[in-house]
Amino acid sequence: MSDSTKYIFVTGGVTSSLGKGIISASLAKLLQARGYSVTIQKLDPYINIDPGTLNPYEHGECYVTNDGAETDLDLGHYERFLNVTTSQANNVTTGRIYQSVIEKERKGEFLGKTVQVIPHITDEIKRRIQILAQSGEYDFVITEIGGTVGDIESLPYIEAVRQMLWEKRNECLVIHLTLIPFLSAAGELKTKPTQHSVKSMLEVGVQPDILVCRTEHPLDETIRRKVALFCNVEETSVIESIDVDTIYEVPILMQKEKLDTEVLRKLNLPNDGDPELKEWKEFLKRLKEPKSEVKVGLVGKYIELKDSYKSISESFYHAGAANECKVDLKWIHSAKINDENIEEKLGDLDAILVAPGFGSRGIEGKIEAVKFARENGIPFLGICLGMQVAVIEYARNVIGWHDAHTTEIEHETTKPVIDLMEEQKSIKNLGGTMRLGAYDCELKEGTKVSEAYKTELIQERHRHRYEFNNAFLKDFEYNGMIATGKNPKTGLVEVVEIPAHPWFVGAQFHPEYKSTVEKPHPLFIAFVAATIKHKEKLAKRRSEMSK
Ligand code: GLN
Repeated sequence: MSDSTKYIFVTGGVTSSLGKGIISASLAKLLQARGYSVTIQKLDPYINIDPGTLNPYEHGECYVTNDGAETDLDLGHYERFLNVTTSQANNVTTGRIYQSVIEKERKGEFLGKTVQVIPHITDEIKRRIQILAQSGEYDFVITEIGGTVGDIESLPYIEAVRQMLWEKRNECLVIHLTLIPFLSAAGELKTKPTQHSVKSMLEVGVQPDILVCRTEHPLDETIRRKVALFCNVEETSVIESIDVDTIYEVPILMQKEKLDTEVLRKLNLPNDGDPELKEWKEFLKRLKEPKSEVKVGLVGKYIELKDSYKSISESFYHAGAANECKVDLKWIHSAKINDENIEEKLGDLDAILVAPGFGSRGIEGKIEAVKFARENGIPFLGICLGMQVAVIEYARNVIGWHDAHTTEIEHETTKPVIDLMEEQKSIKNLGGTMRLGAYDCELKEGTKVSEAYKTELIQERHRHRYEFNNAFLKDFEYNGMIATGKNPKTGLVEVVEIPAHPWFVGAQFHPEYKSTVEKPHPLFIAFVAATIKHKEKLAKRRSEMSK
């Protein structure tokens, strides 16, 4: 640990979606692999207090941390790359900044002064950036500024960065991520958008130290020299970030481009040896050279935007690599499934996952998907709403309670098998009021989950208001669906299983938030293993039948 924390700011220009989160996480990984302790923070320029109230179509998945913060999905990348947990302090929005400033104003803490964007909002931004350094735990705080330079809403953040660069002269660094587009008509890479975007930074007083240039084609010496000259950066500070097949290759790519050594050099830190990335490279090898392949259906209602299920798809990559198996995800829209087309939609799958979600759209399709998996012995994992629909399906089609439902959707049901949690009944505000974050769960011995986790007590993250209604637990257990994981304090059902099925697990919690490259999630590993087994069994049966 160094005496003073270094601050690295990552900004973006030209367009959004260039992958600032992945570049930040990759740099953090390289620094971590050199023995430094690093944390990453995302500053989001929107007015919502957090993304918890946002529709996934707006911003993709809402990621949940152990401490129950509803955060930007980039925090998921940070945890998956670094294998360290993040918290509320790692994600701050404009809404939250203004909320604290306004609360202080109401308390009279500004002593009669006019409260303004500069200095009050920028001071609050700087405070939030530096909070992470206060523990003295981190050598580096990497702060990713959401949005694109030039956006009105990003201005206070860039101004806060400018002030920090001035106040902590040798301890800060700015990395600007831009795009070098290829014009196929001209057959050329074009640097002008990058020049303009650096000019926008200069207009607000910030000179980037390093440029990371996203490109579809390699940058030759001439282009690098041109970018360096027009953007006032050294040639060695023009870093190429070429498109790759998987985000997990980016740290290796950044190492080849010497992003980490450039950062260390500019911050006057020693650069001794190469980062230790042995395990990372082994993971990549397993990911890229699988020995088998399975097809898993991801049934959800936001599948037009794959980012809505980011942590789930990443968990499959991790667990696939752990099983040396390629998981081919087939994205299936739950609203388009019905009992007539079910075979056509799900018939080619080796396993089915029903995703989390809210509200009624697509719910009957999800129930059909569960029925198909249950009746055909197809490995099944239901997450949160996916678990809740598994319970509803069992109640309707096995126990025979035809109007069984969740009260989230049907208040008048005579069998509210999923019902609002007691603690939720008096809640009026929707923002930040779900059951959020990590809770203990005790697993029953001799079950699929205890086999997967190889331990009795686990902690998993939650994000829901409704729960399994314990008034019906006896009926379920009598009929063959059992609770195999429970919260030891409250008795809330966290996991259900059907022991007579080859592999059928519904989890009220979200295992996907805890899967990392270094520690693929045990439940996903077991699910993929069961899928491989199921596929092999089917193939064997088919070949025996054809003999
Ligand atoms: N809508 C359900 C609830 O609030 C499930 C939530 C989820 O899938 N994350 O309980």
